[in-house]
Amino acid sequence: MKIPEDVEYIIETLETHGHEAYAVGGCVRDIVMGKTPKDWDICTSALPGQTAAAFESKRIFETGLKHGTITLRLNGRNYEITTFRTDGPYLDNRRPDRVEFVRNLEQDLARRDFTVNALALHPQTGITDCFGGIEDIKSKTIRCVGDPVKRFEEDALRIMRALRFASVLGFQIEPETATAIAGNRQLLKNISAERIAAELNLLLTGAYAGTVLTEYSTVLAVIIPEILPMIGFEQNTPYHNLDVWGHTVKSVTHAPEDIILRLTMLLHDIGKPNCYTYSGGKGHFHGHQAVSEEMSRKILLSLKYDNSTIGTVTTLVKHHDAEITLTHKSLRRWLNLIGEENLRRLIQVKKADIMAQADLIAPNVPRRHERLEKLAKASELIDEIFLQQQCFSLKDLAVDGRDLIAAGIPEGAEIGKTLSTLLDMVIDGELENKREILLNHVNHATAQK
Ligand code: ATP
Ligand code: MG
Repeated sequence: MKIPEDVEYIIETLETHGHEAYAVGGCVRDIVMGKTPKDWDICTSALPGQTAAAFESKRIFETGLKHGTITLRLNGRNYEITTFRTDGPYLDNRRPDRVEFVRNLEQDLARRDFTVNALALHPQTGITDCFGGIEDIKSKTIRCVGDPVKRFEEDALRIMRALRFASVLGFQIEPETATAIAGNRQLLKNISAERIAAELNLLLTGAYAGTVLTEYSTVLAVIIPEILPMIGFEQNTPYHNLDVWGHTVKSVTHAPEDIILRLTMLLHDIGKPNCYTYSGGKGHFHGHQAVSEEMSRKILLSLKYDNSTIGTVTTLVKHHDAEITLTHKSLRRWLNLIGEENLRRLIQVKKADIMAQADLIAPNVPRRHERLEKLAKASELIDEIFLQQQCFSLKDLAVDGRDLIAAGIPEGAEIGKTLSTLLDMVIDGELENKREILLNHVNHATAQK
């Protein structure tokens, strides 16, 4: 159990000044699990002013002072040092109104959310575990410290945090905690969108997201009510052997652990229940891509995602079902339409979608491995387009606006229109991307007018 030198230094410095200090929370959990913590938090008996005095000569930030936290910058890393505290009364299922500083470690550990996060570590005396956190790590259990109902009433974000830790760590939520989650899930409505989205991102990119999405779908549905109709919605099509939600969850698990791709899979079919028709002995979801796109935009906006995430996810949702033809020409069109990064993402999205569909759809439809091979081929063709520096955007076109003006095209809208026509012809392989050839074509077309 190796504690980094900086952390030892912080603890020793506080002790030299007459205070207690420990590493605490997620970093201790990670150490017990044999993982490398991404950051180290310290708790101490020192009051914030005393902590500041102990590190007088160092860079400190007092941004979290209201909650007793001082951030210390040391060798390029930030360390949050927080005074032992209990949380004052909670009035709105959110943050405490005020915090109260306390004298001992056990009281500080008692205010923490889960037993696995209520551990402290000291370089000499080792681990302090007042609530059975080590046992719960061993048995892979998420359990509230104290009465779960009270703890979720205090701060309903803990409901999302429980799901997040279950998804990231692959732990089971202990029955009493799980019952309290189900019973109090509506309290999530009191939590700000930003805090919810931060936990949702971690949940979705967790290695065990599929299990959590399956077991806690009705909790997620408090945040995203559009999920409810998906659950149990039978598709009645040969493409699927799962209901809409089952397919969605499976597709999430088959996407890389990347937030854009996972959000896309979560939302790609969200419009299906609104688009269902039944004819010819089969279910259909005509137009579900566009409906899913619009619903996704609304959901992501309500969760206060940034514009770039919203733009990318809705683009991928819109095109998730589009056919990708295996020609340079078709892929140049795609590159022009959504750009390289998103086209590569779209291929991942389609892969995840296929992995969550039936393997054998119908005798005349390619099997799953054949559909996947097609996508691999598409990736190769994209590589070739770049290798051969084929033109698919205005910036690669061998002529620009100035060339057209010089060739006698009147300034204004006509220039843009002509460039765009030329680009389309180059993308479609009707004209070679060479300056003389393009100008020749322009002159010829002008002469014919
Ligand atoms: P990660 O590894 O993702 O950083 P973490 O356990 O460190 O996980 P943080 O959100 O960084 O989680 O919080 C640090 C610690 O503060 C937690 O381990 C927990 O002890 C405590 N904590 C954080 N949020 C809450 C909360 N809402 N209620 C109670 N305790 C909390
Ligand atoms: Mg942390």
